[in-house]
Order: sequence, then C-alpha cells, then structure tokens
Amino acid sequence: MSKYVVTNPATGASGPSFGLTTDAEVNDAIGAADRAHSEFTRRTSVAERAALMQRVADLHTERREHLAELIVREMGKPVEQALGEVDFAADIYAYYATHGEAFLADEPIELLAGEGSAFIRNASLGVLLGVMPWNFPYYQVARFAGPNLVLGNTILLKHASQCPESSAAIEQIFTDAGFPVGAYRNLYASSAQIADIIIPDPRVCGVSLTGSEGAGAAVAEVAGRNLKKVVLELGGSDPFIVLSTDNMDEAVDAAVDARLDNSGQSCNAAKRFIVIEELYDAFVESFTAKITGNVPGDPLSPDTTLGPLSSLGAAEGLEEQLQRAEAQGATVHARGQRKGAFFSPTVLTDVSPQSDAYREEFFGPVAAIYRVADEAEAVQIANDIPYGLGSYLFTTDPEQALRVADQIEAGMVFINGSLLDGAELPFGGVKRSGFGRELGRFGIAEFANKKLIRIL
Ligand code: NDP
Repeated sequence: MSKYVVTNPATGASGPSFGLTTDAEVNDAIGAADRAHSEFTRRTSVAERAALMQRVADLHTERREHLAELIVREMGKPVEQALGEVDFAADIYAYYATHGEAFLADEPIELLAGEGSAFIRNASLGVLLGVMPWNFPYYQVARFAGPNLVLGNTILLKHASQCPESSAAIEQIFTDAGFPVGAYRNLYASSAQIADIIIPDPRVCGVSLTGSEGAGAAVAEVAGRNLKKVVLELGGSDPFIVLSTDNMDEAVDAAVDARLDNSGQSCNAAKRFIVIEELYDAFVESFTAKITGNVPGDPLSPDTTLGPLSSLGAAEGLEEQLQRAEAQGATVHARGQRKGAFFSPTVLTDVSPQSDAYREEFFGPVAAIYRVADEAEAVQIANDIPYGLGSYLFTTDPEQALRVADQIEAGMVFINGSLLDGAELPFGGVKRSGFGRELGRFGIAEFANKKLIRIL
C-alpha cells in the first residue's frame, strides 16, 4: 500500500503517490550511507565538501520556480512564500559552504598544568537520520543536511508523507551537486521502519526530528533505548509581548506577520499576544482589522498572503480546537470560517487559564490576545505554557527589553521585530519545544565528535 501521497489542499486533487521503501531498501540505504561516510567523507576535506554544498545552494536557486511549485501543490504554501523558502534554504546551504571550515577548525585548549598541547578536532560521527515535517519542506532539510554534510556526516532523510515530490527533488539536487551515492538518501520510510530498523542499527549514530511532540517523543524513546544522540525541534506557542511602542502600526504589522507567515503553520509563529492594559484596546482593534484583511486565497496567485492549511484534516482539527475554546469561555472577535482546507483568521480574547486553548498550540491562523497589568504579569503568562521555543517583545525601554528577555523561558527572544530568522541565528527551544540547536555555528556542532587530542 502506498503511503506517500500528494493531495493538493487547495483543490483536493490527488497527485502522484509513491510506495513505501522496503525493509531491504532501507538496509541498503544504511549500508550505502555508512560506506559514503567511510570512503567519501573521511577522504575529503571540509573545503571539498563545502564546495559541493555551494553547488547545492546554487541548484536551489536555479530550480527555485520548480521547487516552489512542488510545495504549493503538496502543502498549499502561497507561491511567493514558497519561493522565499527556497531562497532561504539556498542561503543556509551557502552559509555552511562559506563558514564550515572556520566553524570546524581545530580549537586549541589552554592547559592549566603540564607540558605539551591540547586541542579539539571536530570530527564527524557517521550516518544520521533526519525526520522532517511538511510545513517548510526545503528549509527544514537545509538546517539539518547543510551543516552535517559539510561536517562529514551522511544523511538518511525521512520526509513527511505528504511531501514525496519535494523530498525526491532535494535528493536529486544532492546527486546533481556531486555528492556520492549514499551521502544523502531520501527514504519513503514508515514509523515502524524508523523504530525497528533505522535507529537501532549500529551504523546509525543520531537522529534529528522536527515535528509534533508525539513524533518527537516516539523517536527519542527509541533513540534513548539505543543510546543515540537526538535533536528535537517540536511545537511552540510563542508569546508576543507588547509593553510599549512609539509606533503601534508597526508593532501590529509585526504581530500579524508573526502569526500568519506560512498560513499560521510555523512552530515559532507568535500565537499568544500579551498586551499591556494601556495599549490593549487599540491593539485588539488594529490587530483584528489587519489580520482579517488577509483573506484566504489561491496559493498559486502571487497576491495571496494566506493559503489553505496543509490538509483538510489539519483545518478540521483547527476548527474543533476553536469550537472547544469558545465552549470553554473564549470570546471570538473575528470568526474563522472554514471552507475545505481554507481557514480565515480568527482572534480570541478572554481565554481562561483553565481552558485547553490557554496551553494548546493553534497550528493555523488563530490568535489569542491577553490583557496584562504590568511587566510581571506579562512574563508570568508568557511562561505559563509547556512550550519554550521563541518569543517576541515590543518595548521602547532597552533596559526593560533585556530584563524581560532574561526572564522568558524560551530558546529565542526577538525584540521589536518579527520574521528576523537567518541562517546565522541559532534556532531551537526549551521545555516541551525540544532540545538542541539548528543553524548558526551551534547547528554544525550538534552531531560533531568534539575529539580531544592531547599531545605531550
Ligand atoms: P508529525 O510530527 O506527525 O510529522 C512530522 C514528521 O514526523 C513527519 O515526517 C512524520 O511522518 C514523522 N512522524 C510522525 N510520527 C512518527 C513516529 N512515531 N515515528 C517516526 N516519525 C514520525 O506532524 P503532523 O503533520 O502530524 O503535525 C501535527 C502537529 O505537529 C502540528 O499541529 C504542530 O503542532 C506540530 N508540527 C510542528 C512542526 C514544527 O515545525 N515544529 C512542523 C509540523 C508539525 P509522516 O508524515 O509519515 O507521518
């Protein structure tokens, strides 16, 4: 039975489907990845691998229209955002191509006593498994594959089952860039194959997963039993705190952008807006007006800012969450209407701490706004959830900015702006948002063997 299927969420039309990788093919892929690690990786320099990675970046740029078109069809991303994602993925590959050598250079250690010298050599580990989600099919893979192939690890990639064409296109790029057979392998694998074959295999050294808490816990459990290193990038319900601003329009624009990017389906989207009482009424009015100005539309149109959700099931799930929020006392300011997988923006207030909506992640264009009396209450609400991925803070007081940043339980704090991610900025969370970092110099260190060399 085929499990990897394209279903266009905008039209409901079925696209190509692909059969599951067989157990024998999974075993062959592990063997090829292991051979690529020992034969290719160990015999090439970082500079040589970086040159191949630059070619990967260039191929993303050359093929950007085609790559974008694939994910518009697979998960409904508006085409301008799809093109932007391909460009960002290219930037990430280019970033590690440019900086890989410096990041991986030997790190000398100053000895406290004794003669001789000591240093850290950044060595590869071996074969890694990546499990990736549908929300940013190219960007998520770039964050994992870019640094690790420059470091010298080889990759088995299990992408989301709704993205079989984009995941095949990525594999083709690595092949066309000149990486040898086995260095990067796309697998249409099942969860059972991951748990029973791939992670337990002694040749597989670690796993990185981006996705839901459930998938993260399942993979981490098997990895833990097999003593394999794990990086997890899971969900979030990021706070967007507004304490003061001298430009309400800009603050609201940043808030709407932070909520609606990728049609609201980003792990680090702002999902809870926590606004000081003096600004609350003006914020609610302006935010509601601006967010509802984004009408869901055809993702193929360059003017569309809000596409369908990734699937009909995702939209139905969001609708059910919203009904529950309302039943549990939330006030609905702008009501999201669902038409198939399309879901219009929704604004909630009066979400009580006892309701599910207070702690749940809304993976779509639903925003909850909270009124707070002061900075302390803002921080209390910001931290009162199981997640700790990103956060956003608006204030005109630089001392307050850093004071609040210190108190927020999150892996990232963005001050006075949104959508500021970059290849050089480490990405990751705390609490139930996962552990480990991707991007920046930390992203290339997660699966490095920091080998001590002590010479007398
Ligand atoms: P999933 O976590 O189910 O999917 C992400 C990836 O994990 C996919 O490749 C999926 O494969 C795989 N996967 C799922 N279960 C297992 C398992 N037991 N063992 C191994 N791999 C597994 O995300 P959903 O699509 O179900 O999205 C649901 C929720 O996940 C969202 O509402 C959001 O909260 C969160 N999410 C977070 C993302 C982020 O960027 N952090 C991205 C996407 C989702 P397959 O597709 O074959 O099931």
